[in-house]
Amino acid sequence: MNPADHTTSQRYGFALAIVRTLRSAGYQALFAGGCVRDQLLGRIPKDYDVATSAAPEQIMNLLGRHRTVPVGAAFGVVMVPGSTPAEGAVEVATFRSDGQYIDGRRPTSVRFCSPIEDAQRRDFTINGMFFDPLANEVLDYVGGQQDLQQQVVRAIGDPLARFHEDKLRLLRAVRFTATFGFRLDPATEQAICRTCHQITQVSVERIAQEMRRMLEHPERALACRLLQQTGLLPAILPELQGLDGPAGSDLTTRLSILQALPVESAEAAWAILLQPLFQPQQADAKRRLSLIQALLRRLKMSNQEIEDIGWLTAHRSALDNLASRPLHDIKPLLNHSCSRLLLAINDAAAHAAGTVSDDSNWARTFLSTQTPDQMNPAPLISGHDVAAAGIPPGPQMRLLLQQIRNAQLDEVISTQAAALQLLQQLITAPNP
Ligand code: ATP
Ligand code: MG
Repeated sequence: MNPADHTTSQRYGFALAIVRTLRSAGYQALFAGGCVRDQLLGRIPKDYDVATSAAPEQIMNLLGRHRTVPVGAAFGVVMVPGSTPAEGAVEVATFRSDGQYIDGRRPTSVRFCSPIEDAQRRDFTINGMFFDPLANEVLDYVGGQQDLQQQVVRAIGDPLARFHEDKLRLLRAVRFTATFGFRLDPATEQAICRTCHQITQVSVERIAQEMRRMLEHPERALACRLLQQTGLLPAILPELQGLDGPAGSDLTTRLSILQALPVESAEAAWAILLQPLFQPQQADAKRRLSLIQALLRRLKMSNQEIEDIGWLTAHRSALDNLASRPLHDIKPLLNHSCSRLLLAINDAAAHAAGTVSDDSNWARTFLSTQTPDQMNPAPLISGHDVAAAGIPPGPQMRLLLQQIRNAQLDEVISTQAAALQLLQQLITAPNP
């Protein structure tokens, strides 16, 4: 094992110091779970978890009560925040064995135990190892090293029982398989297929969080294919069922677009995934958009996410033949906070079809020639000016302001005087 450069990180140093403190007091203390897996893969762990024979009280006494937060003291988990953000926070947990599970997510009780038993309660063999940073030694009671070498995600123990205990593991299995580019052990995969419909027992927030991590990742297409194959995608997004063409042809296309997406954006990926819910050629675009918004609300996504994903889905074709459109259409579209993602989706769709997007390229060239002030200049007049010209607030005022704004964006007028003159013309000789 070569812990390589992550040992120089402040996170590693902080976690190591915690292990040393516990060990000096005579307790066993080891790195556990995901951080061991990441170290062995040569990746820098996102966070370090420490497993110890010390009970929560002892952990808090040793590390300092003011420096520790009992996040799940009943389960033996104590959080130790670092003194700087670079140190991260380390979760220190007493070796434990889980009792009966309730509500498909949580055990009713835990029992403190040996590291060998603690390994058995973890989800997958690759996540079930310990590492002794003082002896520089891996402690593997579940065959995790072999599965890591063979690139297999395998449930520890009886897969069906493990997924039955905690349904979040269904999504974690797919996430680890896809993001590491591993294979699913066949018995584990079969158990997922048999349990997939129970994923709805997991809170929508946790489902959305797992989906975000998968959709952000470059291997998002692989993740979605696996979600589909195992029956998890239909269970999570029943709204999409029946919308794909024969033999899931449209899904295949969407997966290629997801694969080609050049940005790590869950919003862009969601927009691609949900595209069948929004068919622009259909007259009831508003209703279609509201279906998408309802789905995202059901997953308790933030208002910002709902707005962004909705905008991206509704504007999926907005870049078509961009060069032939008036500046007052082009500028607001390209000035939108999500336009970069829209261009990325357009590029990915073209790439998936074996072409390049002339529209995206034209848009990028256009953007490179424009100043922010050209893209979104301050308005030349306001509603007060229109009111002063005798038009009360209402639809006619809005139309006049829009016409003047369009003329400004089209670079037909650029001064307040010109705007007021145009206003007079529009009032005295309104468009038919
Ligand atoms: P990542 O942090 O990259 O998502 P991870 O495996 O470190 O992956 P964590 O949520 O940080 O995931 O959990 C740390 C460890 O706790 C896991 O490696 C695993 O051993 C155990 N664990 C986490 N969630 C579960 C679960 N739902 N069931 C069983 N064990 C779990
Ligand atoms: Mg982790």
